[in-house]
Amino acid sequence: MEISFAGKRALVTGAGKGIGRATALALARCGAKVTAVTRTQADLNSLVQENASITPVCVDLGDWEATETALKDVGPIDLLVNNAAFPSLQSFLEITPDHFDRSFNVNVKAALQVSQIVARGMKARGSGGSIVNVSSQASQCALRDHTVYCATKAALDMLTKGMALELGPYQIRVNTVNPTVVMTDMGRLGWSDPEKSKNMMSRIPLGRFAEVEDVVNSILFLLSDKSSMTNGVALPVDGGFLSC
Ligand code: NDP
Repeated sequence: MEISFAGKRALVTGAGKGIGRATALALARCGAKVTAVTRTQADLNSLVQENASITPVCVDLGDWEATETALKDVGPIDLLVNNAAFPSLQSFLEITPDHFDRSFNVNVKAALQVSQIVARGMKARGSGGSIVNVSSQASQCALRDHTVYCATKAALDMLTKGMALELGPYQIRVNTVNPTVVMTDMGRLGWSDPEKSKNMMSRIPLGRFAEVEDVVNSILFLLSDKSSMTNGVALPVDGGFLSC
């Protein structure tokens, strides 16, 4: 399936590492003009070195005012990927207010804020658009020590449905991808322990974790016109984990 984003402008959050970085590079390869947003300048420097057409924006998306300022001149965007997330790992009885607030600020509130900024422009231009929120299998299945993370991803799934409902009339589609474990920095944090990872893998019918590319391909599909009638869905990229 050939996907071209020639002439499109895309914004990817959390584009410094892992899935976000690979998504930004893939979008650029498919012809999109990409704005990459993340909070570590060194990651942006190396990203721009890898692809000089990418526009870098350095901001902590957990800070509403800073994000408002950083994105005020971002210009028209056709495709948005809300990918940045804070991986809170605490057992339920140990959950701290700061982890709770940071998790919801980055994983949910920032997705809402960046979507508002981008969707206001899409609506004003009447050009439509596509938004993909990077959720997780954790939105639909409780995972030990991931309670707050799971709650943020469940909130992100429902935020997505609300956005799909209200933005649909402007031809703005909003969907999520819901991956199983991917061995990025974040994945390694939760699943490096061989016992834990073996147990998780045994619950995935395909018997493996997802590769970054598996997730990127699903994101590209949902961003593209190949999914032009798909709106408000949560697409598992989980080898069947959620279906059993
Ligand atoms: P990584 O940790 O590899 O990358 C996350 C990126 O987001 C980093 O560049 C990070 O920057 C950036 N980021 C985090 N917080 C902020 C912030 N406050 N402001 C700006 N940028 C920020 O994660 P993954 O690629 O693994 O995860 C990407 C998405 O996929 C997340 O939404 C995650 O929840 C989801 N996901 C991941 C899974 C996995 O197993 N890896 C499974 C299911 C879903 P920095 O490093 O500077 O903090």
